[in-house]
Amino acid sequence: MTETENFVPLMKRSKGFKELKSLVIDEGICSGCSTCAAFCERIQLDEDGNAEPKSDCNMEIGAIKCNIEGTCYDVCPMVSFSNIEMDKAVFDKPREDMDIGYYKKIVAVRSKKPEILENAQDGGAATAFLAAALEGGLIDGVVVANRSGDWRTDAGIARTKEEIIAGAGTKYVRTPSAMKFGNTIRDIRKLAMVGTGCQTTGTRKAMVKLLKTVIEKTQESDTPLDLTLIGLFCFENFPYMRVKEKIESEFGTKMEDIVKTDITKGKFTITKKDGTTQQKPVKDFSDIVPESCDLCTNFTAEMADLSIGSVGTDTGWSTVIIRSDKGLTLLENAEKLGYIEVSDKVDMKPIKKGVSLKKGKREKAAEKRKKEGKYVPEYS
Ligand SMILES: Cc1cc2nc3c(=O)[nH]c(=O)nc-3n(C[C@H](O)[C@H](O)[C@H](O)COP(=O)(O)OP(=O)(O)OC[C@H]3O[C@@H](n4cnc5c(N)ncnc54)[C@H](O)[C@@H]3O)c2cc1C
Repeated sequence: MTETENFVPLMKRSKGFKELKSLVIDEGICSGCSTCAAFCERIQLDEDGNAEPKSDCNMEIGAIKCNIEGTCYDVCPMVSFSNIEMDKAVFDKPREDMDIGYYKKIVAVRSKKPEILENAQDGGAATAFLAAALEGGLIDGVVVANRSGDWRTDAGIARTKEEIIAGAGTKYVRTPSAMKFGNTIRDIRKLAMVGTGCQTTGTRKAMVKLLKTVIEKTQESDTPLDLTLIGLFCFENFPYMRVKEKIESEFGTKMEDIVKTDITKGKFTITKKDGTTQQKPVKDFSDIVPESCDLCTNFTAEMADLSIGSVGTDTGWSTVIIRSDKGLTLLENAEKLGYIEVSDKVDMKPIKKGVSLKKGKREKAAEKRKKEGKYVPEYS
């Protein structure tokens, strides 16, 4: 077996940035997950979060030395891979549910901490798990999505409970969380990341294929890597300028005046500083959805340790899909430390509906691309 085979046993042969560029970036289907830029300093993100070369790739020099052709290609979630093989590698078991991936259990969660609920999107499960994990010594830091007053986002490292809470709330804006995650592994070895399906898949691909072999070889550290992925359900996500222009024209409101955005039950809702809300059908936003989201099948962040969404539970609660032992530990730890209440009141129908809508959208987009002779990623 060659070194390259050992490096990416579950994926198509490594092809490097040239291939990534022609297959994904030039084709306009980069998801902006930013995982490729996490492991190579020669890739940067453009204004929309798409990957672009900063300088020529020589396959050797990287933030974490690539040394083997194709790190960026191998971690990209828009490059075909096998879900079945990934399940085996990550969870050591095949999925029984083809719609939402491998899982151990699904529960409803609500934070018991007022300071978390005040800032959270739904039941504050994500923030509660993270704050409790920090308190319980399960993590030393986490990559969260922070926003400015006009809703520009950036990935930040939260090392305190206050910083975790400051990052709460959904931003429907591409955020380079995976890049931050990759760049922070050197400094924080017990690190978590919150991310959407593409971000958690990209990062998981990196963990499965890359980190064991490359990082452990190239980084000297006595502390083993201990990485946690918290996934968010995601139907679609937007480049900042596209969503800003659209929100401002559809609602006639400046981004600075908005305190919360929410996409649920087919409606895009904004809550303004004065407490009033405005709603539009989410289909009015379909013209700004990136093609990568149309091609994605991963509504529930299937490669995360646990995944969180709003559909499936009552308002003010979060739906939580526990997938790995680590995910289960996060749940148990948060409950033990008094951060959450847990119930089994989850309705699977709207979750399945979300998956089915996403898969329907994917079928249409894939068919169109195939007719045009274009590349379509497959997730067997
Ligand atoms: C782009 C996007 C689309 C979504 N679409 C759906 C959907 O269709 N259906 C559904 O049920 N749920 C969807 N969700 C998930 C939902 O909006 C909530 O994030 C989820 O229910 C968790 O709520 P919470 O109260 O537990 O999270 P909180 O406690 O508020 O914490 C949210 C965490 O997510 C992080 N975060 C926020 N935005 C981003 C981002 N853009 N990238 C990376 N991390 C981020 C925050 O930093 C924080 O750590 C989506 C989320 C995102 C980001």
